[in-house]
Amino acid sequence: MRAFLASVFSLMILSCLNSCRESAQCRLSDECVYNPDATVFTVWAGEASDVELRLYDEPLGGEAETVKMRPVKDGFWQVGVRGDQQGRFYTFRTFSGGRWNLEAPGIFARAVGINGERAAVIDFEKTNPEAWDEDVRPPFGAPVVYELHHRDFYIHPSSGVAHPGKFLALTEPATLSPDGLATGISHLKELGVTHIQILPSFDYGSIDELTLDQGRYNWGYDPKNYNVPEGSYSSDPADPAVRIKEFKQMVQALHRAGLRVIMDVVYNHTYETEGCALGRIVPDYFYRHLPDGTLSNGSGCGNETASEKEMMRRFMVESVRYWVDEYHVDGFRFDLMGIHDIETMNAIRAALPDDILVYGEGWAASAPALPFGQLAMKANMAAIPGVGAFSDDIRDALVGSPFNSDPAFAAGAPLFKERLEAAIEGSRSWTGRPLQQICYVTCHDNYCLRDRLALSCPGASEEELLKMDKLAQTAILTAQGIPFIFAGEEVFRTKGGDENSYRSPDSVNAIDWHNKKVYNDLFRYYSALVHFRTEHPRFWPSLDGPDPEVTFLDAPEGVVYFRIDAADGSRLWVALNGSRRPVPVKAPESSFSIIVTDGLAGLDLPGTGGGTIRVEPLEALVLLQK
Ligand code: CA
Repeated sequence: MRAFLASVFSLMILSCLNSCRESAQCRLSDECVYNPDATVFTVWAGEASDVELRLYDEPLGGEAETVKMRPVKDGFWQVGVRGDQQGRFYTFRTFSGGRWNLEAPGIFARAVGINGERAAVIDFEKTNPEAWDEDVRPPFGAPVVYELHHRDFYIHPSSGVAHPGKFLALTEPATLSPDGLATGISHLKELGVTHIQILPSFDYGSIDELTLDQGRYNWGYDPKNYNVPEGSYSSDPADPAVRIKEFKQMVQALHRAGLRVIMDVVYNHTYETEGCALGRIVPDYFYRHLPDGTLSNGSGCGNETASEKEMMRRFMVESVRYWVDEYHVDGFRFDLMGIHDIETMNAIRAALPDDILVYGEGWAASAPALPFGQLAMKANMAAIPGVGAFSDDIRDALVGSPFNSDPAFAAGAPLFKERLEAAIEGSRSWTGRPLQQICYVTCHDNYCLRDRLALSCPGASEEELLKMDKLAQTAILTAQGIPFIFAGEEVFRTKGGDENSYRSPDSVNAIDWHNKKVYNDLFRYYSALVHFRTEHPRFWPSLDGPDPEVTFLDAPEGVVYFRIDAADGSRLWVALNGSRRPVPVKAPESSFSIIVTDGLAGLDLPGTGGGTIRVEPLEALVLLQK
């Protein structure tokens, strides 16, 4: 055992390592500042009257060596420990309310041991992959977001990867399915998407990192350490540096392929309340409570965090900045964003460059304990410019609400025409700008598209389901907003009717890449439309505007027909036939190119002006006039 009391030294000596005392504000993210000669530990402990650092040689078990911390200012406590502490683990313990609280890694642990039970002291310099300082963000372009889970995307043997279910799989450049078709990064390039949204990839609690051989699955919406990558996606969760380096390698490889990376962040609740760092270091502070003192549960997971409190807000702002600076992440998807307050979301927006995408779910699982007008709900999006929200409007109009199994527009139900038109125009009733609308029909939640369509149309043939699928995504990819595709929809994935597969086995969640051959016609349709979208950005909202104009044209019942006028005078016509009969629509007056017809996309067929054009049942027509 080392003589710790002797190795603790005056903070004055450490001024070169940590400027918390001198600076206007201590930073939560400076929790553990390593130097080979000494490491400085800093933690915010609220009203605590005593705080101690506990150092260990092991990530679990073993005996703690306790070091008393000193108050610095504003509730921050600090201590410096002499000598090279690299490879050691730590927790904090606070004394408040007349008792010692249970120890926990700091709320801003940046490295952890296995299962995230203790934070780790590491040298971050050693976690950078080769040429990391040359890593650059790909151009923002015309964003098309693709949401994937590491296991869904790569765990099926047909994915052909060497690192199934791991961060490293997204570094493999040229993987193939047994049919010889591109998978992995090559598949993403072929599809043409621009932003990859990864399901929770910070350290979460539901997968035991000690028993990874059991192959358990979870979406990961159970945050444990917000500022550390998840161990189960690393090749060695026992080595705290490995998950950090491999996450960076993933970002670097995606950037080299021209793809941006969006983190799914879940600041709205914690997996445990009394068992996690936020709940232990400063009990009660970080959560909202009901008048009777019990926890408010707007997340449906047992608690909700209190972003309106100064230190929770600072925590969130510092956290997103940290992922951008340390890991070069390019955007954030906020889980249950409606639990957070408007001021915090605006602070987050202001702390990030304009081309870092920020959007989220503009709702909560149940009413949060803060007035609705203060919350980052979809209805309040105009007060949060530059932040987007998922459009349940376009989802429900196209495929139906998750709260019933009724068919909607894409499945031939005529009732949804007006709702769909409003969404196609950019949902101006709740967006300040159409760019704030995230257009999607499916995501990890609820049924995947094939299952949803099959549920709402019992007895429909596979051919009909494929038509509906194409029709729905044509609307998504031509609407005014940011299109969002759930991984595997392009190869007609099924989850076997499992609506809430958050912990279902790989057999339910894995994408079978044989589908890419079987449904190659569908894949080519998606890919052609995505490429058309990214190659013709002028028809859709961009960061700098101006927003194009949308005009709805006369069309028979069950058909949506609109024209997009770009600022340069070019025009795009889109007809969506949500009826089960062929319909004529009026053709443009002068010559045009046919981009989509008869279930085929990416065409360039000549069309002469005047007359009418036939749109087949449950199919789309897209015409371009340059
Ligand atoms: Ca974990």
